[in-house]
Order: sequence, then C-alpha cells, then structure tokens
Amino acid sequence: MEKLESIYINGLDPSRPLIIAGPCSAESREQVLETARLLAGGGIKVFRAGIWKPRTRPGGFEGVGEKGLEWLREVKERTGMLVTTEVATRHHVEAALSAGVDLLWIGARTSANPFAMQEIADAIADINTDIPVLVKNPVNPDIELWIGALQRLYNAGIHRLGAIHRGFSTYGRHLYRNLPQWHIPIELRRRIPGLPVIVDPSHMGGRRELVAPLAQQAFDMSFSGLIIESHCDPDSALSDKNQQITPEVLNFILNTLVVRNSNESTESLTLLRQKIDQIDNELVELFNRRMEVSREIGQYKKEHRMSAVQPGRYGDLMVSRIRMAQEMGMSEEFMRSVLTAIHDESVRQQIEVINDRR
Ligand code: PEP
Ligand code: MN
Repeated sequence: MEKLESIYINGLDPSRPLIIAGPCSAESREQVLETARLLAGGGIKVFRAGIWKPRTRPGGFEGVGEKGLEWLREVKERTGMLVTTEVATRHHVEAALSAGVDLLWIGARTSANPFAMQEIADAIADINTDIPVLVKNPVNPDIELWIGALQRLYNAGIHRLGAIHRGFSTYGRHLYRNLPQWHIPIELRRRIPGLPVIVDPSHMGGRRELVAPLAQQAFDMSFSGLIIESHCDPDSALSDKNQQITPEVLNFILNTLVVRNSNESTESLTLLRQKIDQIDNELVELFNRRMEVSREIGQYKKEHRMSAVQPGRYGDLMVSRIRMAQEMGMSEEFMRSVLTAIHDESVRQQIEVINDRR
C-alpha cells in the first residue's frame, strides 16, 4: 500500500491525535443533537454514531436506520463537526454517502468477512474513492485478515485509509471486553508504514473506568488517536451503556491524557520494546491460567486421595516441550529451567489446595 493518502480531511490537524467521539448508536434526534452539541463545545472535531448496529444476538436495538442519517446531517450543519458512521453493506455505503457522511468506518464483524469487505470496497469505489475509511480489526486476532480488509479497499482505489484497534474477542470472563493484544496493531504499523492506527478504548475495555487508562496506553504507544463512545445520558443508552461516558467526562479525560512525542530515530526501538512489554504481560496471564488449572487438579486429587505429583507424566512433558523449544532455536538449558520453575510453582499451588491452605 505504497500510495496511502491522508485521512486528515477538511482542516483536521495531522500533527494532533485524531479524536472521534459520539454515541454507540444514534437513538433519537434529541440524543444525537444534544450529545453533538456538548462534544463540539469540548472541541471534538469528528462525531461518530452507529446507524445500523450489528448486534451479536437478535432482539437487541439494531439501530434507527436511515432516518438517523438526517440527524447526522443536522449535526454537521449545527456544529461544523465531521460525521462518521459504520457501514456493512452496499446499501449502507450508498445511503451514508448520499447523506454527506464524511468518513466511514468498518466494524469488527464486517472486517472479518472478505465477501462483505469486497462488496463495501466496490460500493465506495462506485461513488467516491476520496472518502477516508477506517477499518476496525476483525473480532479474531488475525492480522492477515485485517490487512486483507484494508487491501481490498486500497485495490478498489480508496487510498485514504486508517485502522482502528478495538481489541480481540475471547471466550470467558476477562478484565477487558476485548483483549488489547497491543503487539498486533504495533505489528500492523510496522507492516504498513504510514497507516494511521487509532484506538477504541470503549469497546476494548467495555467499562467506563477502563476508558482513561486504555486511552493513555494508546498515547504511550504512539497511536494516532482515539475513537471513544460518548452519550449525553449513558445510563439510558440503548446499546453499550456500560462503556459510554458523558461528554463532560470525556473532556476531563482528554485534558488529563499525556501525549508523548515519539522521537523518530528511536521509534522502531520503542515499538520493539512495547512488543516485549506486551508479550511479558501475556506470559504472566498465561502462567496465571496454568496455575488456575493446577489448583483445579489439586482439588480433584484431594477428592480422590491422590498424591500431588505423578512422576512419569512430568518426565514425558519435559522431553516433548524441550524438543519443541529446541526446534524453535531455544536452548535445552533455558527451556528446562523455565519448565522446572513452572512445574515447581504448580506443585506448590496443588499442595496448598490438597492441604486446604487456599
Ligand atoms: C461500534 O463501534 O459501535 C461497534 C459496533 O464496534 P465494533 O465493530 O468494534 O464491535
Ligand atoms: Mn458500541
């Protein structure tokens, strides 16, 4: 993607973080206009609102549909903000573009679908290749699929491209609604130099109190901006109410975030260090998951009056893991000491369970 062009249209300042804010969904004319008025008052330049909502299960609020586009048009007229919405089909593209929407974004469920991406790319190309398009990461952590989605747009002649990192969905309960896995968008920036990547702390955290810390992390890792869900009355929001914040709170957060200047000459080093930090965090989480399973095993052994360690099994595990590590270029000694340390801690935790100490 050699010839990427700027997404900073109509007076947006490319030297400042791009901040997009607005409700998850357009719900009513009043809610849209009131939220927009407050956001514009706080200096926000790009207003978001979902018109067609991709809901995981049927029966939820699926968006107001086309009539909401009229409200976006009014937002533009009254506040001068640019407006953006999510498109997922040719019909959405046609309706959004004829209503004067300034930027489009592609949602995480859509960017995971090459057929949908091709349909959208062709639809945009048929009308206006000059519109900036931001592509959210696919729900699953597949960087090739994310790049593929961008590539389909690029190949259709749409060169004002950006990406949105909104985290990756996962099974089970976690601190985050969608896991950050920062090394993936960092790798995306490395693979597509010049592509602005902004962060969506709202969908990543899924909770209001995680918006500020995730937004700060995004700036610490030199991402190009933020897209944040903001609603004039979050508690009554029809979708994603737990993660929406008022424009006042948003304003407060934006004023307290520290934007760091990244020094060009050390940027690649910084990116690599950030990757290491992220991988180390994931290692700690993985260790913790392993210990959880060990404690469950401890519980089983306790109930069946078994001893904590069955030597045969451990020996087999060691041999196969060490061989695997060696094939990847790691030393036998290193792998043996890591596995021994993990095993010792697992046994310690099992014994605690067996002896009722936790
Ligand atoms: C949204 O931005 O409201 C949305 C549906 O996000 P995502 O595609 O990231 O789930
Ligand atoms: Mn949402």
